[in-house]
Amino acid sequence: MPRPDFPKTLAEFQVRFASEDACRRYLMESRWPNGYRCPRCGHAEAYPVAGRGLLQCGACRYQVSVTAGTVMHCTRVPLRDWFRAAYLVTTHTPGFSAWQLQRQLGLGRYETAWTMLQKLRRAMIRPDRDHIAGTVEVDETYVGGVEEGRGGGRKRDSSKAIVVAAVEVRGRSTGRIRLGVVPDVSGLSLVGFVDASVAPGSTVRTDGWQGYAPLKQHGYDHRPMTQGAPKEAATLFPRVHRVFTHLKTWLWGTHRGVSRKHLPHYLNEFVFRFNRRRTPMAAFQSLLGLTGQHGPTTYSRLYDAEPTG
Ligand SMILES: [Zn+2]
Repeated sequence: MPRPDFPKTLAEFQVRFASEDACRRYLMESRWPNGYRCPRCGHAEAYPVAGRGLLQCGACRYQVSVTAGTVMHCTRVPLRDWFRAAYLVTTHTPGFSAWQLQRQLGLGRYETAWTMLQKLRRAMIRPDRDHIAGTVEVDETYVGGVEEGRGGGRKRDSSKAIVVAAVEVRGRSTGRIRLGVVPDVSGLSLVGFVDASVAPGSTVRTDGWQGYAPLKQHGYDHRPMTQGAPKEAATLFPRVHRVFTHLKTWLWGTHRGVSRKHLPHYLNEFVFRFNRRRTPMAAFQSLLGLTGQHGPTTYSRLYDAEPTG
């Protein structure tokens, strides 16, 4: 689907989306890149009617809202504020707190900012359902508590969560990633994560840990690297370890660490941003709910998830 181009700077963004009208036009362009079509009869002409962003078909009079299926639907917050919030969340790597968002948008109520941020974060959960592929590095790390090397064995420490990462190798650089929390480092958990994240037939590089041994039976071209000292993992799998370093810095720097309960949500947010670091337009549209809005589950997924702090 062709996408309208993305503003390069905040100044450019503000000029372009200065009015409700401009935002509405953008929503129409995103939804009907080849021009409006009535969802019911296919007619190509519609007229705006009273109410925010309602269009009425010129032939069958069917009404459609330009915000249907997006996070903006049925909220009283102006489209401009939604657009700016999504832009800020997309482009500011460290992420935003509700308090910062309230200040930036000049919103009267903290609760409004909190709810908006919540909805934008929900949108980060949906898009990454497909499997990554090709040559992939997989490794785990401990998040939370006191960091320490793995040493000879892999002991369970209940104060820490175990995070597994799968990272695409693209020449010298890094492609897409997937992150997951696993209860332990057994084959069931680790291979389960790979099954859910990496396409069968991919080449999977891991260290020599026995938990990864079943990968071959699961249809992967498994390349275990036997290692000397545990420290060498960073050299063997530079991409995956760079991802872990960024992740931990972000979790501690922005959120002062997170509880195990909320960790999966933060991992989603991290993966979402990371995988769209070169395509901010896609990120922006995903956040507002402008992509995949024809899927019937999209809307409910945004609202049905359990509350988080
Ligand atoms: Zn119609």
